[in-house]
Amino acid sequence: MALQYDLHVHSTASDGTLSPESLVRRAHAQDVDVLALTDHDATSGLDIAARTAHDLGLSFVPGIEISVTWRRQTLHIVGLCIDPQNAALATGLEQLVAFRNWRAGEISRRLEKKGIPGAYEGARALAHGKIISRTHFARYLAEAGYGKDVREVFKHFLVHNRPGYVPGEWATLEQTLSWIQASGGVAVIAHPRRYRFSATRLRRLLGEFSELGGEGIEVISANQAPADSLDLSRQANQFNLYASCGSDFHDPQQRFTELGRLPPLPEGARPIWECERWSVNQTKLSQAV
Ligand code: AMP
Ligand code: MN
Ligand code: MN
Ligand code: MN
Repeated sequence: MALQYDLHVHSTASDGTLSPESLVRRAHAQDVDVLALTDHDATSGLDIAARTAHDLGLSFVPGIEISVTWRRQTLHIVGLCIDPQNAALATGLEQLVAFRNWRAGEISRRLEKKGIPGAYEGARALAHGKIISRTHFARYLAEAGYGKDVREVFKHFLVHNRPGYVPGEWATLEQTLSWIQASGGVAVIAHPRRYRFSATRLRRLLGEFSELGGEGIEVISANQAPADSLDLSRQANQFNLYASCGSDFHDPQQRFTELGRLPPLPEGARPIWECERWSVNQTKLSQAV
């Protein structure tokens, strides 16, 4: 049997609902063999997740999902096999957290002007002192009755052209790749289909990313049409990029994404775990645990 990889998941260290420990336990119960925890702009869950995985005999990959502003749009770049202690990475992430904190206040001020008070406090409480994200605002607004669920409040309040939307001022693509590389990690473009780029724009991104030393793209993500996966796999090969796969799991209540329930990589794809830096890092990792 091929190993089951899930290389993109979230915990309470960012906007997931399971603690890093429960998340790893769930992944193990769902027969995941190799798991990467990739919280938004945060590495605080990695230690406990690695220890839990070690106890269960599950292979664990320390990861991150970095928020990027590229040509005025937000992108997500996953870093795999990173060293969270690396100073360049840690300092870079501090900058993103500072923006997140400022943005949280700004979202709240904008919502208040529309007659919705207390959003900052509400979201902050749900974030439990960790990374504060739009997801926390969405959960608060849904609980407070401003919509029927998280999806609906996102659509009405938190996306472009809606009252609580604040444009991202995240890391540049160059910075992101330099932080991931400095920490010994492998950079992967997260969920490329979700940006709804034109074919030309996507090719431009793949070209720039590859020039900067990026290694891979997520060819498989949850809820993606098989034809899209096949197309991404071909494009990865054209740009000499490796293929990754991840569920982007956040919450067991969201039935459409479960841990490790992913189709295999298309035939002809080169798995990211076969890239050179991956094996180097896995060796380092198994020595460290
Ligand atoms: P942030 O990085 O704080 O801007 O929040 C981005 C996160 O919000 C993503 O990682 C998703 O988990 C979530 N998200 C973004 N758009 C939506 C949406 N339309 N519906 C539900 N969740 C969303
Ligand atoms: Mn998220
Ligand atoms: Mn993402
Ligand atoms: Mn994600």
